[in-house]
Amino acid sequence: MDYREYLKDKKRIVIKIGSSSLTHRETGRLNLTKMEVLVREISDLCNQGKEVVVVSSGAIGVGSAALGLGGKPQRVEQKQACAAIGQARLMMIYQKLFAEYNQTAGQILMTKNTMVNHLNRRNAQNTFEELLKMRVIPIVNENDTISTYEIQFGDNDTLSAIVSALIRADLLILLSDIDGLFTDDPRKNPQAEFVSLVENMDEHYMKMGKNTTGSQVGTGGMATKLEAARIATGAGADMVIANGADFHIIHRIMGGRPEGTLFLANPKEEFYLIDYIDQLVNP
Ligand code: GLU
Repeated sequence: MDYREYLKDKKRIVIKIGSSSLTHRETGRLNLTKMEVLVREISDLCNQGKEVVVVSSGAIGVGSAALGLGGKPQRVEQKQACAAIGQARLMMIYQKLFAEYNQTAGQILMTKNTMVNHLNRRNAQNTFEELLKMRVIPIVNENDTISTYEIQFGDNDTLSAIVSALIRADLLILLSDIDGLFTDDPRKNPQAEFVSLVENMDEHYMKMGKNTTGSQVGTGGMATKLEAARIATGAGADMVIANGADFHIIHRIMGGRPEGTLFLANPKEEFYLIDYIDQLVNP
């Protein structure tokens, strides 16, 4: 069975872009050439009649580069200030580039509280639905400026999986600086083998996660990506982890080409998003 063929028919897609895929490593500033490709790829999916939600990192990194801080800010207050600057810049560029392709982008900033609070969660869900009905592309990030330690998602891998579950997406694509899942960390173990298909996201695969990321800018490592896979597949979405070095990979994934690791949806009756969020808040 060629599961990749089914990706062509996906209708509601969440695409998560890591900070390292959006910025120049040397300066931390936005890589505009790459962003143009990203926006063109997404616009073309919309032109095909698909609904696309983007979960974009980069607020803190872009803010920090704008201030010339050099590297990742350490203190929470500093991160929050950087996010206030960077998020606005990020959106300005997205709006401008999407407008060139006749698309409208909207911003949704979330915190854990958005998901935990019943009313907030319903509001967020309604907003997503309404934006998608209007053919607007929601661009999501954590509301880093106000989310303090207790309420933060922490990384956008988890956030993108939660968004997928919330809006009942049928596909989640995580684009970062890794090719997909390996049996071990390929940066440390040359024997590590690439895993192209995960039919059932179980403990065996969870253990392959490493709490590391090769990038200086992102937050999530393989472990958070596998946690995202557990949420997304459990909620009924397929998920692909692939390398965001070249965003043309998006149409190759959507065209059924064997890029990255595909995790098959495995909807679990016992999977309740709200129970999951509760665990995150009260571990
Ligand atoms: N929300 C953070 C930002 O936009 C990124 C979190 C992450 O790297 O996953 O800067």
